[in-house]
Amino acid sequence: MPEVAVYDTKPYDRLYLEQANANDRIGWRFHEFRLSSQTAGSANGADAVCVFVNDRVDRDCLELLVQRKIRHVALRCAGYNNVDLAAARALNIAVTRVPAYSPHAVAEHAVGLLLSLNRKIHRAYNRVREHNFSLNGLVGFDLFGKTVGIVGTGRIGRIAAQIFRGFETRVLAYDSCPAPDWAAQHGVTCTDFQTLLKASDVVSLHVPLLPDTLHLFRAETFAQMKPGAILINTSRGKLVETAALIESLKSGRLGGVALDVYEEEEGVFFEDLSGQMLQDDELSMLLTFPNVLITSHQAFLTHEALAEIARVTAENILRLNGGQEALPGTAL
Ligand code: NAD
Repeated sequence: MPEVAVYDTKPYDRLYLEQANANDRIGWRFHEFRLSSQTAGSANGADAVCVFVNDRVDRDCLELLVQRKIRHVALRCAGYNNVDLAAARALNIAVTRVPAYSPHAVAEHAVGLLLSLNRKIHRAYNRVREHNFSLNGLVGFDLFGKTVGIVGTGRIGRIAAQIFRGFETRVLAYDSCPAPDWAAQHGVTCTDFQTLLKASDVVSLHVPLLPDTLHLFRAETFAQMKPGAILINTSRGKLVETAALIESLKSGRLGGVALDVYEEEEGVFFEDLSGQMLQDDELSMLLTFPNVLITSHQAFLTHEALAEIARVTAENILRLNGGQEALPGTAL
């Protein structure tokens, strides 16, 4: 039976991983702390490690895992920017991920964020609970007839685009590998990045974090956006340079932002810090702005997504432990 050290475990991870292991074929060892070179010693005796978005699986960490004869890093997420893949290959450690657990979960959250931010539902909710039934300051705009720019038309971006088409918006799409057939089928217009920025009332990000997408949204980018546009980021925090974001909000150039991911989310998102001083001044400032809506990396958090993540992760652990190939499309 493979022993698996699971890091950054939350109660919902545990629940769904245990459900996926109904026949007790895997020995889960749940840890609440994250994996890094500092904590890799805790993987002693395990056959594999199971990690999430904020575990830091760099070369030092991988070398410590190899010394412990660990040959498999199972990511229970789609993004893999936190794993040094070149080092893993050189050290002969298999890395698997769950590429598409529920693109609907993330796309629907992106649309939900936009609706809340635009119609100020989060503010109205708090007001009404205080018996403040005033509507002052709650004016939004119709989505109907507006232009939505989708940056990255992979699995999630396409679903987001299709949902936005349902609001009868014009949808522009930019992707380094455009999908003209899909676009034509769904009434989406493929365009270049600059045209999308200039024309879109709403821009929603669905590209992965890669060296060429790091700070894709910086001062020059915000300057090219339509004045008053809204930015939605449910992809990765480091796509957006926070200092430039704050400046463009303060100047009024950007009309609002909804973030499910944040540049410096590690150690903050997923944690209950309600009794503590927030040490991140930029995050503190963003939280004071009325046109900023932040959720704590929860776009993936649906029953369907958690069940699929656990199923694929457990299956890959059993396959690799038994000398078989990983499930198609999951090996990195
Ligand atoms: P995907 O691989 O299916 O699609 C990504 C698309 O981005 C591809 O079409 C690719 O061609 C395009 N792309 C890559 N680099 C580009 C560039 N430089 N410029 C333009 N386009 C580029 O990925 P997906 O499943 O749609 O997921 C997208 C991202 O969403 C993931 O990388 C992950 O970071 C994020 N995500 C977030 C959550 C969450 O809970 N917030 C959950 C899952 C995934």
